Amino acid sequence: MSLTTPLNQAAEGIRQKAPDFLARLDALNDDMDRRYAAAAAHYGLVCQGCTQSCCLTRFYHHTLLEYIALWEGVRRLSDRTRAALHARAVTYRRALEASDRLEGPFRHPCPLEKEGRCRLYTQRPMICRLHGVPHTLHHPAKGLITGPGCHACHSSTQPERPLARTPIYTALAGLERSARAAVGFNQPLRLTIADMILAMPSCSRSASSTTVEDQRVGFPSVLQTKRRTG
Ligand code: SF4
Ligand code: SF4
Repeated sequence: MSLTTPLNQAAEGIRQKAPDFLARLDALNDDMDRRYAAAAAHYGLVCQGCTQSCCLTRFYHHTLLEYIALWEGVRRLSDRTRAALHARAVTYRRALEASDRLEGPFRHPCPLEKEGRCRLYTQRPMICRLHGVPHTLHHPAKGLITGPGCHACHSSTQPERPLARTPIYTALAGLERSARAAVGFNQPLRLTIADMILAMPSCSRSASSTTVEDQRVGFPSVLQTKRRTG
């Protein structure tokens, strides 16, 4: 059995039996956004798009809860938009595979990017929410990890006050553990946004029933900018 079936069964289980986990994820995201905003203000980072947009990079996501949250957002889109998303996810995955084969750099717009904005900004996963500001992370196996933030922070003359990611990761990991235990799901996840979209039944259904004309309705394939507000 592929991962998709148990993943979607677990997602359905949370949605029907334990929706409270999604409310708790929302609260955690709000807290994350507040911490991020404070760090960004300190470094003077105002993300209004840039040519090095992080939405062109390779991000992996690891939680069932973030998958469900994204699925909730995708569900609310029109059939036509979901079909376009599906097509973009297929293209993204091919680009990623080609980049891995050639061992070259990967730059390709995330399927959810639209005209420099995130189409599901409210539901975007943790790593998208935290990118940009300098950070620290105490990894259980690797020890202290630091990140310099994106280029927009590199010229900052402010004293170092990196965003502490450890309590954020710990809170999300704890919530994820409880959610998984509630539905008996224990598979490791390492999914791009494209993988998530392709795993969502509502997205696959709309894609298979779409017309050729629908599939032409799409998104700009070249990303120039990204803004953090969408
Ligand atoms: S956080 Fe904003 S400024 Fe930094 S790389 Fe991403 S899009 Fe560019
Ligand atoms: S989910 Fe949204 S914020 Fe994250 S990479 Fe995709 S477009 Fe950017």
